[in-house]
Amino acid sequence: MSVNDKQLGMALIVSGPSGAGKTSICQKVRHEMGDVAFSVSCTTRPPRSGEIDGKDYFFLSREQFEKKISQNQFIEFAEVFGNYYGTLKSEVLDRTRCGRDVFLDIDIQGAMQIREASVNDPELAKCTEFVFIVPPSRQELERRLRGRQSDSEEQICKRLEKSSYEIKFWKKYDYILINNELEDSVCRLCNLIQSLRSASKRMPEDLFK
Ligand code: 5GP
Repeated sequence: MSVNDKQLGMALIVSGPSGAGKTSICQKVRHEMGDVAFSVSCTTRPPRSGEIDGKDYFFLSREQFEKKISQNQFIEFAEVFGNYYGTLKSEVLDRTRCGRDVFLDIDIQGAMQIREASVNDPELAKCTEFVFIVPPSRQELERRLRGRQSDSEEQICKRLEKSSYEIKFWKKYDYILINNELEDSVCRLCNLIQSLRSASKRMPEDLFK
């Protein structure tokens, strides 16, 4: 008897209210683990200073984005703050099919679309894991949003209002990470990923040959 170790990779869908710290946590986890890929999303919003096409996002016109929708190239897409954002199937499935793990930093609407699609799609059901990152309290979220010093008072109020709505989705996720302290959260997410690599659902059918 021998063991076939060619398992399916996992798609780690990470979302949470803005200001919860998901981007910093995912970047640090990727740096520490070294072998988790990142799904580069498509967007129609213009690049911010320092953002690189193909690294931070694939920056597309509305026409280009809508063409990809009609070609069924997205696992999910959503309109966020007036712009399209979407995850390409190729960014995720090309990796998971080769046994690689990949992060998806997407909003809650997108995560819920993938959750629904996975009900009728056994491949998606096998490879996806849903992680919700939350701040320890509303007061702390407000403190963090103000600390960024990049948003106006109006934007901060909008984000706080949106986060009160978003936080209600926590039960739809498989894992909840309360981000009290960055280094500790990074460590807990690395440990979670290591444990999930042993999930039987991603093992090959012919595990024992
Ligand atoms: P930003 O414009 O600040 O980079 O992102 C705005 C929001 O869009 C964030 O909440 C981010 O998680 C979300 N987002 C980024 N990429 C995608 C995607 O591919 N799909 C969806 N649904 N949301 C995304």
